[in-house]
Amino acid sequence: MGRRLEPKCRLCRREGVKLFLKGMRCYTEKCAIEKRNFAPGQHGQRRTKLSDYGIQLREKQKMKKFYGVLEKQFRNGFAEAARMKGVTGSNLVELMERRLDNVVYRLLWSLSRQEARQMVRHKKISVNGKLVDIPSFRVRVGDKVALRMNESLETRIKDVQEKRETHDLVGWLDMDKSRTSGTVIRLPEEQDAGLPVEVQQIVELYSK
Ligand code: SF4
Repeated sequence: MGRRLEPKCRLCRREGVKLFLKGMRCYTEKCAIEKRNFAPGQHGQRRTKLSDYGIQLREKQKMKKFYGVLEKQFRNGFAEAARMKGVTGSNLVELMERRLDNVVYRLLWSLSRQEARQMVRHKKISVNGKLVDIPSFRVRVGDKVALRMNESLETRIKDVQEKRETHDLVGWLDMDKSRTSGTVIRLPEEQDAGLPVEVQQIVELYSK
């Protein structure tokens, strides 16, 4: 899969919200949104009134950047969400949340989704006892996601867990006592995700 190479804080500044792309820095006053909450570039501080289409487009961009997915994958996810029963916007959030890289981040094993994606690719994660190295792999209710521990990973995980000790585990995941495996106890809902995005705008964009 391709990668976004643009500096991460620029992505947040473009959208005017925190997308939590840079680990612990995002929770400190060093965050670029705290210091310079205007769009990057020469004309970043100009006020521009967005059209309805512009607003919808920005919401889509925010959600893509938040989960670190590219256009094609996101569009495919939307098409699938639209085919599912229920509300398309909520289905889309559910599908994004169920990605394995997101689950690793939600289990507090990484400082960012990008780091989580790398852990999956580098074969540090198993699902139901089997190695899975596909970040877009979708977990199901009952799945057990675990770290494939070795000494260096153990040190890293301890460090991350210390840094994220004030962060809550989401309600749809359960963590075992050793904090090295977690289980999907129910499907994620839109309110679990805490997205800085109006998902309905994305539905309207793609429904044109
Ligand atoms: Fe940078 Fe994180 Fe702040 Fe976004 S939320 S601007 S990635 S520090």
